[in-house]
Amino acid sequence: MMNCKQAVRLMSDEMDRDLPGGERFALRLHTLICTGCRNYRQQLSFLRQACQQQVAANDATPPSAPPAA
Ligand SMILES: [Zn+2]
Repeated sequence: MMNCKQAVRLMSDEMDRDLPGGERFALRLHTLICTGCRNYRQQLSFLRQACQQQVAANDATPPSAPPAA
């Protein structure tokens, strides 16, 4: 069984690359039984979504837009 430190590392790895089946399964198993890591994972994916939306919003803004103030 992996420990929380390994799980956290795999979670951030998972954001950047596809995990091999064995690692993905072990991580899934760990988050099933570990509330702390489950919560952490939710926060991680929430933060990542928020970042991506922010980037998308910035991209949609024309560079010549006048300052708001
Ligand atoms: Zn854990």
